[in-house]
Amino acid sequence: MADKNQGNIKIDIELCTGCRRCAEVCPVDAIEGNDGSSQSINIDKCVMCGQCIQICSAYASVFEEYPTSREKKLLERNLPETLTEPLFAAYSIGDLPKVKEALANSAKFTMVQCAPAVRVSIAEEFGMPLGSLVPGKLAAALRQLGFNKIYDTNFAADLTIMEEGSELVQRITEGGTLPMFTSCCPAWVKFVEREYPELIPHLSSCKSPQQMAGTMFKTYGAEKDSIEPENIFSIAIMPCTCKKFEAERPEMNTSGYQDVDAVLTVRELAYLIKEVGIDFNSLLESSFDKPLSMYSGAGHLFCATGGVMEAAIRTAYEMITEEPISDVNIQYVRGGQGIRRGVVKAGDLKVKTVVVSGLKNVVPILEEIKQGDADFHFMEVMTCPVGCVSGGGQPKMLLPKDNDISFKNRISSTYRHYEDQIYRKSHENPEIKAIYQKFLGEPLGQKSHHLLHTEYTPRREGK
Ligand code: SF4
Ligand code: SF4
Repeated sequence: MADKNQGNIKIDIELCTGCRRCAEVCPVDAIEGNDGSSQSINIDKCVMCGQCIQICSAYASVFEEYPTSREKKLLERNLPETLTEPLFAAYSIGDLPKVKEALANSAKFTMVQCAPAVRVSIAEEFGMPLGSLVPGKLAAALRQLGFNKIYDTNFAADLTIMEEGSELVQRITEGGTLPMFTSCCPAWVKFVEREYPELIPHLSSCKSPQQMAGTMFKTYGAEKDSIEPENIFSIAIMPCTCKKFEAERPEMNTSGYQDVDAVLTVRELAYLIKEVGIDFNSLLESSFDKPLSMYSGAGHLFCATGGVMEAAIRTAYEMITEEPISDVNIQYVRGGQGIRRGVVKAGDLKVKTVVVSGLKNVVPILEEIKQGDADFHFMEVMTCPVGCVSGGGQPKMLLPKDNDISFKNRISSTYRHYEDQIYRKSHENPEIKAIYQKFLGEPLGQKSHHLLHTEYTPRREGK
């Protein structure tokens, strides 16, 4: 029987060996138990990053009988009964049954979005080289699965930059709370809400791209397709296990409907493709549907550490100076796990930035801010080691050496795909311009603020 932890991430006590490798990678010390005994997750502390799932190597042996049958374990995990892959001790609860039900329901109009990191990892589930770039096959697979509209989170990443860049400029020029923090990583947001509630005003009020896309589906998308929003079922394909938690936040319904109805990790999408019998490797390339899929290279960079910062700097620079930035490639924000500081000169302003990858690395900086010692304007934080390409919902590497290779290859595919895009700046995306002109009005305007921004919840008293 699985343990009784609440929440989306769980440890199966029948399979856990107590090796505590998961505790070594957990960024918030949420895994509790003695060496050699089965572990449990402190759900209040857990930020649902899924890094414990990625590292866990204890799995159900076919030679052993467990009190809970494989069939029951599959059911508990919401996995297909046809699944032949090993079941590991650390796992997440999936959304596959909800998605299958929506696909089978002719009264539902399904709109699916794919995060940037999905197109550089999904092929690994089908034996293709680590980090293969396959946006066309991804779109083709989703089409064969029967989704009505195949849209792209990258589009909403550009939208996020329009709102977040404007918010940063407003805070700097009009005296708002600084430094401002990015808010697109839900694990980071949950961490601030619980561990540093006094710093909540530093978080950008922007919803994440996943949530912005969901909002646009049930408003602008509903209008475009002449569908009643209540009949839209909004699905997100994500490299992240915490995106399920974010989608279920009760405040994520500013359109009058929950922005996102179900989230599938990359692993879950692969299970579904296999269950239906689609030969992924042989698929002919297809494309995403208009209009909520056109994106700039800047939007695509969201999946790598430093990518949100790079996209935001390009747009904020041009908002401040009203001149083109001399070099769009801002190399100092790029890199691996750790902290990168830098300064961008925009007219008379020197905008100081910090990029943090790996949640544990942010603690000294938050303490700096609490002491009043921080002298920078904007901070990007990603919980996972090198950003969303290394997320807890990505394909699981069975050999530890493959982890580093997959991260490196997924990042290089990310930059290659970025280079392929016609537009390099979010504010130059023609569909983004059109959406503001026809529907949203101005960034930070009344409608865009209502639909695309949110509020946060302190999760522990007295801290
Ligand atoms: S959940 Fe997996 S990694 Fe964590 S202690 Fe148990 S067996 Fe080890
Ligand atoms: S999901 Fe992340 S935060 Fe939660 S227990 Fe696992 S490693 Fe720790």
